[in-house]
Amino acid sequence: MIAIPDAFAGRYALARARFIAGVATAGISLQQYRHPLNGMEGEELAVDVALDGPVDAEHLLIVSSGCHGVEGLCGSGVQVFALHDDEWREKARQQGVAVLYVHALNPHGFSFLRRVTEENVDLNRNFIDFGKPLPVNAEYDELHPILLPEQWPPTLQNEMALGKLVSERGEAALQAVISRGQYQRPDGLFYGGQAPTWSHKTLRAILQSYGRKAKRMAWLDLHTGLGPFGFCERIYLGRNEAASMQRAIDWWGGNGATPVTVAGDGDSASAELTGQMHSAIYEECPHAQFTGLALEFGTIPAVQVLQALRGDHWRHLHEDAADDALAQQIQSQMRAAFYDESDGWKGLVISQARQAMFQAVDGLATGS
Ligand SMILES: [Zn+2]
Repeated sequence: MIAIPDAFAGRYALARARFIAGVATAGISLQQYRHPLNGMEGEELAVDVALDGPVDAEHLLIVSSGCHGVEGLCGSGVQVFALHDDEWREKARQQGVAVLYVHALNPHGFSFLRRVTEENVDLNRNFIDFGKPLPVNAEYDELHPILLPEQWPPTLQNEMALGKLVSERGEAALQAVISRGQYQRPDGLFYGGQAPTWSHKTLRAILQSYGRKAKRMAWLDLHTGLGPFGFCERIYLGRNEAASMQRAIDWWGGNGATPVTVAGDGDSASAELTGQMHSAIYEECPHAQFTGLALEFGTIPAVQVLQALRGDHWRHLHEDAADDALAQQIQSQMRAAFYDESDGWKGLVISQARQAMFQAVDGLATGS
């Protein structure tokens, strides 16, 4: 067991070092999927994978971090803590569940404190069938020039134009249009891409290599940036099928636990999304019964998170326009939007994630 603050790190290179050290302490082996580029500090980038349990386990729990780059600052802490958590490891072992830790699914975004990949793609909108016509989000097109103005910080006129849209359409409706995913503006927000990204292909390779034997699989995918500070929303992850939704509710929402929500329903902080990662499980591991959950930890208010994302995209569109001070300010806003340095927040993250992990093991082991 380590102290909770020692599980977290404020930058990718240190988070990765802590993950690798945790894997070594746990006495399990590490597999590295090297990214072709280097990180913000010139460091090596990789998706690091460690399996705690037998390779032929029929029951497999995936715990993944950093789908949305910078959000890995939180998810990595959960993984590192778990690797040092003997009670948790013993629980999974006793119940016959192997745990697959996938660290930094989008290591480039993690290192550069961005939510998107090196292709400016939202990895969790990138899992669509690119052989078919791309989904059209026409409403996003209309918002794009207002979201990403020529000048940053935005002019008063720009802020007023956005404020008018919020008051006319409502914050939730606007969030749905912006965050749903769009495939026509490669430099825009929540862009889903034109092809599978490096991280997308890497995730499929990981599932092919570790998911072949599993008959029952669960996935806890760690996210931040939506909802009240420190609160963990449990968002159903999977196809729109009654039986698997019911399983998720039984495993994670019963006995007075925080309810399981469905993205796009009124009670979730998340809008309905296109191109989510979980579709890869059904395609790569069709033999397995799958039950999934996204854990979404709240940070700062949604309006401020959107502002951070706008600034971040603006900076990458106008590399030369931002001086060092502005660039640093934008980066620290991104960090604050998706991570909190306080011990209190980290404690909330660990306790809620740990509960969901224990519940996942019980669900996998007992079956329903
Ligand atoms: Zn996320």
